[in-house]
Amino acid sequence: MTTASNDSSSSRRDAIQMLAGGFISMAWLSRSAPTLHGGEVSAARLKGLVVVPDNLSLDDWPGRVKRAGLNTICLHHWASANAIVQLIDTDLGQKYVEQCQHAGLDMEFDFHAMSDLVPRDLFTKDQSLFRAEEDGNRTARRNFCVHSKNAMAIAVNNARVFAKKLPTTTGCYYYWSDGCAAWCRCPQCRELSDSDQQLMVENAIVAGLRQDNPAARVAHLACHASMPRPTKIQPAEGVFLQFAPGRRRYDIPYSQQNTEPSLDGLWFLERNLEVFSAESAQILEYWLDVTRFKVGDGPLPWNREWFLQDLATYRRLGIKDFKSFGNGLNASYLGRHGELFFLKEFADGLAVTH
Ligand SMILES: [Zn+2]
Repeated sequence: MTTASNDSSSSRRDAIQMLAGGFISMAWLSRSAPTLHGGEVSAARLKGLVVVPDNLSLDDWPGRVKRAGLNTICLHHWASANAIVQLIDTDLGQKYVEQCQHAGLDMEFDFHAMSDLVPRDLFTKDQSLFRAEEDGNRTARRNFCVHSKNAMAIAVNNARVFAKKLPTTTGCYYYWSDGCAAWCRCPQCRELSDSDQQLMVENAIVAGLRQDNPAARVAHLACHASMPRPTKIQPAEGVFLQFAPGRRRYDIPYSQQNTEPSLDGLWFLERNLEVFSAESAQILEYWLDVTRFKVGDGPLPWNREWFLQDLATYRRLGIKDFKSFGNGLNASYLGRHGELFFLKEFADGLAVTH
């Protein structure tokens, strides 16, 4: 069976595993679970920021996140799990891990992973592992065929390998589809939507991870092609909704984007919550993502009041876990626009009880 990459066991990797083993889930378990009582909403449970390697040009992101009042930092790569593994093995990556440990933050990793879970060099050996396009031709570009037993077994095996290399402290794992794009259109797969095909993979991965960690949980990312709710496949225990409305509007409150035609509107979240539990659902927003907005080099068009309105909208649905991307908030941004005052306003909003 093909593995993701050679495991050059190193003291560094041992260190990160000890780090994770040392406080796996402790911070998570010690959080008081927010509850709804007569309309009261307590503070958010997961209060997180997602950073990418580019962010790390600004020193001590974990310290900044902690001082702002957040409790989780997630390291993201747009295309590759292997890229994160390689980064963690560098001096910069080790420093980042040590800073997370020093700050006492929960640490997670997420990435678009399918090209690493089913390595693309297998295409020349067995095209049946890979997805078919609308014309029936197989392609190594993005994702794979979910009705290929071999592809699924390879993906699950490699997911377990990556989980060991990149242990989270929350027990949550994020193996996103490539580009949040289409899955397979072979005769067997085409009866299932992209959301259903993706959920089949997530169900298989959580079963695999739970052989190593019975408390492992795996995200079902609702984003682009997988924004509609699954209709034929049910989530296995341990699969939770992660909702990322990347194409929503930010010039009006999210509560006003509540009809089906609204791109990535609230309607899609409500439909997904008919399949997934709101108790375990997580919002992945773009409130702090400079690159999401027209002027990609900033300043961030932060609007505290609009953020608080969006937050209230999500909380009314029972959501307790929140993250935002922070793309573009790097050393260069700080030089151009000054300190990141909105980090604390973001954290304060999540901490509010009302
Ligand atoms: Zn297929």
